[in-house]
Amino acid sequence: MTTHLFPRFTDGPDIPRVRRAGRRAAVALLLVAGLFAAVPATTGEAVAATSICLNGKLVFDHADAEGGTAKPVVTLPARGAAWDLWGRTGSTGSSQWLTGSTTWTDDGHFNACYDAAAPLQDVFIRFRSTSWLWQVIKSTTDQSQYSFDTTHIASLGASQDIGTVKVPAEMQRAWSIIDTVNQLWSKRANPSTECWTRHQVWGACDMLTYVWSQNAASGGYWDPGTKYVIMNGNQPDSRHFILHEAGHWFMWRLYNRSFPAVTNCNPHYITKASSTSCAWTEGFADAVAAYSMGDYRYVYDDGNETSIANDKNSAGWDQGDTVQGRVGASLLDFWAVNGPDGGNWNRDIDLMSRQSSQDFKDYFTVARPSAVPALSTTGTAKTIIDGHTITY
Ligand SMILES: [Zn+2]
Repeated sequence: MTTHLFPRFTDGPDIPRVRRAGRRAAVALLLVAGLFAAVPATTGEAVAATSICLNGKLVFDHADAEGGTAKPVVTLPARGAAWDLWGRTGSTGSSQWLTGSTTWTDDGHFNACYDAAAPLQDVFIRFRSTSWLWQVIKSTTDQSQYSFDTTHIASLGASQDIGTVKVPAEMQRAWSIIDTVNQLWSKRANPSTECWTRHQVWGACDMLTYVWSQNAASGGYWDPGTKYVIMNGNQPDSRHFILHEAGHWFMWRLYNRSFPAVTNCNPHYITKASSTSCAWTEGFADAVAAYSMGDYRYVYDDGNETSIANDKNSAGWDQGDTVQGRVGASLLDFWAVNGPDGGNWNRDIDLMSRQSSQDFKDYFTVARPSAVPALSTTGTAKTIIDGHTITY
């Protein structure tokens, strides 16, 4: 990924104002909003201030399930991950929050700057397990994010490059989640705002929340009650797993907080019949993960994988629209570069944000014709579902 999904910027004149206003939780969004609001430049002050920066790059170790069952450990840039610059502007008192943003979304770089008239004291960066619109919290009861601080610098009078900062091992999988969700957010196809879907109002975007801890014994689902994704110890090793669960939350949000009524869905398998509602919701989530990753796979957290690609002759596959892999592959074919929906999923996402469907048949036979302009249900589209053993 080479584009900067989030703008590169340092600090700005609005940041201290926001901080003083006590609107800490809204800082990140306001920082983004400020970019579009053309915040005026700082008016001149009597004391010449110097921009003092701590630069570096945030990385994390990732046990890469997508790399196979050996799960090779790779060190990756933590993209779009929150940082806060802390320090003290006076000779006494305690360190205070000075500014904050996220790492760059291509390479995990950070550039934390503060305009100071004198050297900053007790300076450090605090990294938190969150991005603009998604976060990882420790548990449903302790809803705090993971965080860690860089080595404190007693006095900083000029900018310094602190090099590569690695997420502590015991919390690295929280940053696997933070990093991975960028891949869905960047494709969320909401032309209206930076929010996840068009149902959200800019300035009040919804946060996608994961609950994860290294010693959690159970997890691996999106909880329709709390709307949190629950993941246990090593499950974040699979990016497909992370994105599949995000896909459930994304459907719920596209459907404006209304999730289809799902029956006969526990357990469910990519290749086996469940129910039409289960195949629709799980097939969509599988397709979200594969589309975000740019493949046709589902990869489990142990590194095993199942190909979602299938045809009429696929051995061991059940048939029809109660099979999630049949539904998921149909969707991926619709969204493919050479598919009937324009080469991507954008028109489908727009349709889903306007019309809910209870199952794939409802989506194909009712929703697709209602899109403006209509999404095809004949020709290539019909051939695609036929090839996945679905006939309407
Ligand atoms: Zn699922």
